[in-house]
Amino acid sequence: MKKGLMLIISGPAGSGKGTVNKHLLATGDFVYSVSATTRAPRPEDTNGVTYHFISREDFLSRIESGGMLEYTEYCGNFYGTPRKEAEEVLASGKNLILEIEVDGAQQVKKKYPEAILIMLLPPSFKVQERRLRDRGTETEEKILERLARTREELKTVDAYDYVVYNYDGRDKEAAQQILAIVSAKNSSIERNPSVMEKYFAD
Ligand code: 5GP
Repeated sequence: MKKGLMLIISGPAGSGKGTVNKHLLATGDFVYSVSATTRAPRPEDTNGVTYHFISREDFLSRIESGGMLEYTEYCGNFYGTPRKEAEEVLASGKNLILEIEVDGAQQVKKKYPEAILIMLLPPSFKVQERRLRDRGTETEEKILERLARTREELKTVDAYDYVVYNYDGRDKEAAQQILAIVSAKNSSIERNPSVMEKYFAD
């Protein structure tokens, strides 16, 4: 059986990562990697589903014991991908979605060169700004912080394999595009060793 693919989806606030991921998960071919974090849960969070909420101490000891596939400190909190869970999903043949930021994405690419790195973006910075303001869930200060961070994050976009734009109301299309990328990767020679031997085997 083929190992699953590691799919990393990064995107700034307002890119619609959550919605696009829901479409991908609905296909049944993907498992969402539940990260560990030291940040406080928000009302929409469920422990063990959106994140594993753990203490700073626990997080540091997991790093120490090699339990994190990657990790980063973001806005004063630690975020990381639990290694064991990720490896189990890939071994089962399912594709794994890592919804992580750019620093972690690059760490994963170093360890798993076959990982697919996708940058999901709103169609433009202007649209991103409008989405964040329309959402109305954050203070002006937070909005400005997130917008400033986007500029920093996009400086690393060359480390990514693909960019997918999520146009207003067209999140299904963005998910379709990601499915097309996965499908192309699965047809690659790299993912299909011994083509000749298998062809003549029966
Ligand atoms: P939030 O606190 O808004 O849920 O997440 C903040 C940022 O951390 C987002 O960009 C999110 O993608 C990223 N993030 C979530 N989990 C992980 C993780 O396990 N590793 C890394 N490197 N980033 C993560």
